[in-house]
Amino acid sequence: MALSGIQIYKLLPQTNCKECGFPTCLAFAMKLAAKQVELSSCPHVTEASKAQLAESSAPPVRLITLKSKTQEVASGNEVVLFRHEKTFYRRPGVLIRVKDNLSADALKALVAQADAYAVGYVGMDLTIDGFAVEAVSGNAAAFGAAVKAVRSLSARPLALVSGDAAILSAGLAELAGERPLLCGADENNWEAMAALAKSSQAALAVRSASLEGLAGLTEKIKAAGVEDLVLEPVSAGMSAGLAHNTLIRRLAIKKNFRALGYPILCFAGIGTNSPLEESVAATQAIAKYAGFIVLDNFLPELVYPLLVLRQNIYTDPQKPIQVQPGLYEINSPKPDSPLLVTTNFSITYFSVANEVEGSGQPAWLLVVDAEGMSVLTAWAAGKFDADRIAKAVKGFNVAEKVAQKRVILPGHVAVLSGEVEEALPGWEIRVGPREAVDIPAFLKKAL
Ligand code: SF4
Repeated sequence: MALSGIQIYKLLPQTNCKECGFPTCLAFAMKLAAKQVELSSCPHVTEASKAQLAESSAPPVRLITLKSKTQEVASGNEVVLFRHEKTFYRRPGVLIRVKDNLSADALKALVAQADAYAVGYVGMDLTIDGFAVEAVSGNAAAFGAAVKAVRSLSARPLALVSGDAAILSAGLAELAGERPLLCGADENNWEAMAALAKSSQAALAVRSASLEGLAGLTEKIKAAGVEDLVLEPVSAGMSAGLAHNTLIRRLAIKKNFRALGYPILCFAGIGTNSPLEESVAATQAIAKYAGFIVLDNFLPELVYPLLVLRQNIYTDPQKPIQVQPGLYEINSPKPDSPLLVTTNFSITYFSVANEVEGSGQPAWLLVVDAEGMSVLTAWAAGKFDADRIAKAVKGFNVAEKVAQKRVILPGHVAVLSGEVEEALPGWEIRVGPREAVDIPAFLKKAL
């Protein structure tokens, strides 16, 4: 049962020492009750209080991390049902299913292609997160060999898929020092699976067709000593899958129902008849609460929209994606190349930078710290003004790079020309186009 802020407050030292970053113990208690801080932020809680607070302060969805030797993918620690309430923290890991009966060449081609796939998106490289190696051969040696082959081709975290603990053991033997996801435990095999997960320190997926079944299994497996669990609700179709995922997240967040307080695993290809249908099922899973998604098909044209959708949903709406302020060189500019100015909102930066790059004209692009806002928004909010532009020109030593002291402002803030002129004595201020798409034509004339 979750404790209220006042109940938590009574268990804190009540010294208001501020070491947790909050002005009072009560303020910290309120944040703890809202699951917005960790209990460990207060160094003065007694062991007795810690024990009482542990259950209350645990996140409603447990954080589960899959690890290879060099990479990891995590899901959990979510605290809201809807992104507009706060934010979603951990974007779901996307894994590609690799069956152990593939020929060596087919396995190599699939894993190498999926592993190397990366698409640039507003300054980030979007990639898949790992592979789910499935034992369809029924042969432990073949499964171990497939896991070994995948590991030799990719350093990404793995899930191992089989209902047979002995077969999974053969895969685990190839992953010393790693923390894969075992898929998984059900009503018939959970004891053997729990023992394997416990001895190997792996995370364990728990499968059932009903939420009651899932909750019963997680309680039993937790009692057997395995806490890092993932839920795999087996659903007949997308409608049932949506209902299952929503109920699981709602019970975890709103009712603090610990037995279902784990990330959800979705095999998007199950029950679908084509890669396109699988992509639609994966889209639903991204939008509604999946923590790990396994795709049967790796097709760049279908993976790309999934990764972009995931990125957009799991971007904090209160924190715009930003690029580093500074002086950027595009197309190897020379001292007499034009100097354009813009803000550090990622989409603005990339719109401008891509147009300049596409024009083939060399140019300097001065990116001003506007707290991640676009040009007009920042100007209206007082975050993109003459002082900030002048500060950037001076702070990034622009005068040392350019021969002609001439700044080209975005057309939308032509109104700033006079103020920038005053803030930058000796500089010529020009007004560029309002839209990035008009920059190439402008640069041709400007040169
Ligand atoms: Fe209170 Fe602990 Fe925060 Fe100090 S660190 S103000 S004792 S909650």
